[in-house]
Amino acid sequence: MIDPDAVIVGAGPAGLACAATLSRRGLKSVILEKADTIGAVWRRHYERLHLHTDRGHSGLPGLPMPRSYPRYPSRAQVVAYLESYAAQFDLHPVFHSKVERVRRAGSRWRVDTASGSHVARMAVIATGWADFPHAPRWPGQDGYRGNIIHSSVYRNPAPYAGKRVLVVGFGNSGGEIALDLAEAGIDVTLAVRGPVKILPRDLLGLPILNWAILQKWMPPRLADLLNAPLLRLAVGSTRHLGLQMERKGPLTMIAEDGRIPLLDIGTLARIRDGSIKVRGGIARFNHDGVAFADDAAGQFDAVILATGFRPDLRPLLPETPGVFDARGLPLITGRATSEPGLFFCGQRVVATGQLREIGIEATRIARLVARLQG
Ligand SMILES: Cc1cc2nc3c(=O)[nH]c(=O)nc-3n(C[C@H](O)[C@H](O)[C@H](O)COP(=O)(O)OP(=O)(O)OC[C@H]3O[C@@H](n4cnc5c(N)ncnc54)[C@H](O)[C@@H]3O)c2cc1C
Repeated sequence: MIDPDAVIVGAGPAGLACAATLSRRGLKSVILEKADTIGAVWRRHYERLHLHTDRGHSGLPGLPMPRSYPRYPSRAQVVAYLESYAAQFDLHPVFHSKVERVRRAGSRWRVDTASGSHVARMAVIATGWADFPHAPRWPGQDGYRGNIIHSSVYRNPAPYAGKRVLVVGFGNSGGEIALDLAEAGIDVTLAVRGPVKILPRDLLGLPILNWAILQKWMPPRLADLLNAPLLRLAVGSTRHLGLQMERKGPLTMIAEDGRIPLLDIGTLARIRDGSIKVRGGIARFNHDGVAFADDAAGQFDAVILATGFRPDLRPLLPETPGVFDARGLPLITGRATSEPGLFFCGQRVVATGQLREIGIEATRIARLVARLQG
């Protein structure tokens, strides 16, 4: 493409949404994607995954998810939707184009790949979090004879048949992978280090996300206070399950700590019936398993680390340290940054759904870019 208005890095939901919103304003963009397909990350998520945000709040700007989809679309449906989104807006990412550096070049941005550079007045970073799996390490881990993987590599329970599996972490991936294993009859234990928060996926027949959206104008602490009795009723007693409950309300927890509660789709019932066991945090590894914080030992053939992601975008943009916080996350996403023409999309954890947030941010970015160009 000759002289694009914007170079977009990444052809996941955020990159596609930004390209579409820009094109609706008559602005040209080039999308650089290191993989060979659209929505590469959604293609490789674990097989049973369904959105935990509802269809109505998970579509991108200009094209709702099809009405024929269920309330919580499957991973395959999300991928099909992303393909139809690209077709609808005539988006053609340049595949096999891994962006190595994004630097200022006068009043423009130069985006370097191994096969060449692209220059434009705007650069939009839509690289997601998938490249940054966080895998903590424990004493004794090198001597462990079993297999350790990160949850982002888990696909299905088949390789674990007949094995004892430890899933580490009680976020949505950890909870669902433990459920996947338990439903396949596999001996599964969850290692849970700290206090947890559990929410039903639906409350009074409505997706829990709708409640968060309805209350987004309230201070999180107030909304949490109002919701607490109903949520307690919906989740039921969690006493004697070996889980320590987070005292902060869910909206406060997301706002203050960037931690998303577990949206329960069956994990809790499996913990209650004993088919998922719960233990504390890991203190160290042994050759055949782990010792937990309470010193009790457990033997495991495999360990799945559902320990989240820790993105750090500083190596991609080494010359603009002012746009990042101490961990390398952009200080501002979906709005103008301190570097004119540089934007990030979808880099913030929100209570109201990532895909929904991506749509809001992409729409706002296109508006800002159009204003800058005009
Ligand atoms: C298991 C799981 C379940 C989730 N479920 C939901 C849900 O139900 N609802 C919801 O709203 N959100 C959910 N999310 C959050 C989800 O990640 C986002 O909604 C969405 O996929 C993020 O889109 P993105 O475009 O920002 O990132 P991604 O989908 O990760 O896409 C980023 C793209 O950028 C490319 N890329 C990265 N670096 C470079 C580079 N240097 N050069 C070129 N290309 C690059 C990648 O290959 C990728 O294609 C879930 C996340 C996970 C991990």
